[in-house]
Amino acid sequence: MAELQLRDIRKSFGAFEVIKGVSMDIRAGEFMVFVGPSGCGKSTLLRLIAGLEDITSGTLAFDGETVNHVVPSKRGIAMVFQSYALYPHMTVFENMSFGMQLAGKDKEQCRKRVEAAAEMLQLTPYLERLPRQLSGGQRQRVAIGRAIVRDPKVFLFDEPLSNLDAALRVATRIEIARLHRSMHKTTMIYVTHDQVEAMTLADRICVLRDGLVEQIGTPLELYERPNSLFVAGFIGSPKMNFLSAAFAAPYNAHRIGIRAEHLEIVEQGGEWSGTVVHSEMLGSDSYVYLDVGADEPVIVREGGTSRHQPGQTLRISPTPGQVHRFDAGGRAIGR
Ligand code: ATP
Repeated sequence: MAELQLRDIRKSFGAFEVIKGVSMDIRAGEFMVFVGPSGCGKSTLLRLIAGLEDITSGTLAFDGETVNHVVPSKRGIAMVFQSYALYPHMTVFENMSFGMQLAGKDKEQCRKRVEAAAEMLQLTPYLERLPRQLSGGQRQRVAIGRAIVRDPKVFLFDEPLSNLDAALRVATRIEIARLHRSMHKTTMIYVTHDQVEAMTLADRICVLRDGLVEQIGTPLELYERPNSLFVAGFIGSPKMNFLSAAFAAPYNAHRIGIRAEHLEIVEQGGEWSGTVVHSEMLGSDSYVYLDVGADEPVIVREGGTSRHQPGQTLRISPTPGQVHRFDAGGRAIGR
């Protein structure tokens, strides 16, 4: 079990500062997810925690002890990457036990640990197979299993599911959630691009922007109370609708934001009206795209199958209390 403290961490590659002063506490046993646009520094921050990159300045501590200069193998971490990095000529069993054997662990103890991890990840039937005889999802589970047997204090994941197809992603995501529950003493830090992974796996999400922390909170906090336009637009799918100028003025804001599920199509009255430009049926829901005269079409969620046709004029109203207001600097000023 490890608690992590990051204090004003900075990282430069040459003259290029990539991490610009990141401070946060990650609680023991917590599942922390780093999200943010491509290039914002998620992987670099993870690699600094792992010790795979040197910290330029600032302090990184595990359980109160500074680890800036501690080599990766002595940090009690295990890392799972997007590419599984398994040894192709070794069986699943050998891949999983290799690190432990290197560390000089007793053979019997190795076997027990591998068998327990294999059981946890439903890999028992595959222990004698080679990686090429496995599916992508099974290979990634082996990579996770190899990390588990090392009994790390901190588990680091760098987009572990991004090479998997949609169905396998869901199955492996559920596996990782289960793993965190069963290894409740292990701190997990997880980098992803995927909204659903972030929302479903995280105890807390850290949104990074251009090498800085924009907001840290539980998935629901970020979804319901984003502190900036940036977070509001980043968290949630479809993206929050933003309306400026004439639309925002009555709300005393520079800009307002409303989620698709907080707009309702009404028969009469309504706050705004617009023309249907497109609709998407998802089965359980539909998204209706309305041109209300703003920069972009507004997306309205409708339960069930939409009956609305392109060209049709609709009136819409926001759910009371669900209009996010932002100032000219993009800061949230309440709802
Ligand atoms: P993505 O989501 O695309 O993987 P990311 O948020 O994980 O992006 P990083 O991989 O941390 O971003 O990269 C952050 C920035 O640092 C990028 O501009 C990248 O080009 C730069 N960078 C990363 N590693 C190095 C390196 N070894 N040398 C120079 N620049 C680097």
